[in-house]
Amino acid sequence: MTAFGDPADAIIIGAGVVGCAMARRLALEGAAVIVLERAPDILSGASKANSAILHTGFDAPPDSVELECMQAGYDEYMEIRGGFNLPVLETGAMVAAWDGSEEERLPELLDQALLNGVADARLLSRAEVLSREPALAAHVRAALLVPREVIIDPWSAPLAYATQAKALGARFHFNAGLQSADFDGGIWHLNTQAGAMTARSVINCAGIQGDRIEQMLLGEAQFEIRPRKGQFVVFDKAAARHLRTILLPVPTARTKGVVLTRTIFGNLLVGPTAEEQEDRERPDVTRPELEMLIAKAVELVPALAEAQVTAVYAGLRPASEEKHYRVHSLPEKGYYCAGGIRSTGLTAALGIARHVQALWSQSQTVSGSRPAETPIDPLPNLAEHLTRDWQMPGHDGIVCHCEMVTGREIDAALASPLPPGDFGGLRRRTRCAMGRCQGFNCLARLASLSEGRLSVPLVPEAAR
Ligand SMILES: Cc1cc2nc3c(=O)[nH]c(=O)nc-3n(C[C@H](O)[C@H](O)[C@H](O)COP(=O)(O)OP(=O)(O)OC[C@H]3O[C@@H](n4cnc5c(N)ncnc54)[C@H](O)[C@@H]3O)c2cc1C
Repeated sequence: MTAFGDPADAIIIGAGVVGCAMARRLALEGAAVIVLERAPDILSGASKANSAILHTGFDAPPDSVELECMQAGYDEYMEIRGGFNLPVLETGAMVAAWDGSEEERLPELLDQALLNGVADARLLSRAEVLSREPALAAHVRAALLVPREVIIDPWSAPLAYATQAKALGARFHFNAGLQSADFDGGIWHLNTQAGAMTARSVINCAGIQGDRIEQMLLGEAQFEIRPRKGQFVVFDKAAARHLRTILLPVPTARTKGVVLTRTIFGNLLVGPTAEEQEDRERPDVTRPELEMLIAKAVELVPALAEAQVTAVYAGLRPASEEKHYRVHSLPEKGYYCAGGIRSTGLTAALGIARHVQALWSQSQTVSGSRPAETPIDPLPNLAEHLTRDWQMPGHDGIVCHCEMVTGREIDAALASPLPPGDFGGLRRRTRCAMGRCQGFNCLARLASLSEGRLSVPLVPEAAR
């Protein structure tokens, strides 16, 4: 059976950026794919809250799966982005040294970048750094410039992958958390909140729950998730004029450290922190850490002392007890795992999907054939440096004045092939309520426009 009777060729557990990219890759190969997501929408885990940097892999461990996937992911993103209308903000990144010991480490970082194939990385003197970024604090000593590090839209990219997978026949089930599973020697029988489903293979892309899903499926897990929280402060758009380049610290063994970067939406972002926590569900923001981030931003760019804060948020990295990705398989059970994708998954997702698909196809077959044509649905642009919908005629009025979101954009998102399931999904697809007033002025209108169209209705009092 299949394409598309029961069982599916693969059930993907989790619709974060990795699950969405995985669904697209397998669907492009002609596989009958089901995606299970416990939340009402895609990108409800780590993938909803990151720094949105498309990394070159200049500081990734050499010869690692992570480096391979990041570079393959970066290249594929650049290759496909035109068709999907996915934006890039070409900022480049500077690893800045602020004291003598950091400066001493820059040549070693350059060597690693060159070893990792990032051939255009180069050292900048203090004068070169300040001529590129005059607003930096005067005590900057030198930097490593990585020109091809860029900023992307962290939500439209995975939405594009998922939308294409759906157009190729992949089935997405939301509010469909996996509850139990049984392998009968040939077929997986999965019991989910949305009913029973069967497949010849399962692919674990469950992020922060990855180890528990592996335990549930196999009876034991090869890895243990250790959630690592990252908090961010978003400065108002006026602050973005102070910095063009992504500003990275000299990394430590544990974290890439606090980054100061523009966002594709025109703001300036500082974060993330790196805080271990037991709780897998709640990435709370905390005042001392947010104040520390603001102080750090002002230390690096003194003019930010005057900047207003628009929003704060936090995400949980699905880190594990080891630094490397936890990608492995048990072919005799039709089990594949893309786990522990802690801090580079936005970049690496398309590469991880290729890597896991290569493992998968060593012992699995697709029931369909490769599609003759690849459907591509261009996504609406939300990037501030490109033309937005409000700048074009016939947009049906502005609904969110802070982020200049139009009625036509809200309607298009709600009517799209993969519509939002909740208010968070609508925000990520349009930017509504993401600006200065955080929805104070537009929640009632948004509730009325989305009435009956979200699986979790927007209740303005609850969303405030
Ligand atoms: C603070 C921070 C900054 C970052 N910055 C960057 C960056 O600049 N660049 C970059 O490339 N990467 C960055 N990352 C990393 C990137 O965001 C992650 O690597 C990536 O989002 C991981 O995606 P995932 O699909 O593996 O996990 P997730 O996005 O967490 O997806 C897993 C999904 O599985 C679902 N799920 C869980 N349990 C079940 C179940 N029982 N049944 C069904 N579904 C289930 C969850 O609801 C979730 O949607 C950052 C991450 C953080 C937290």
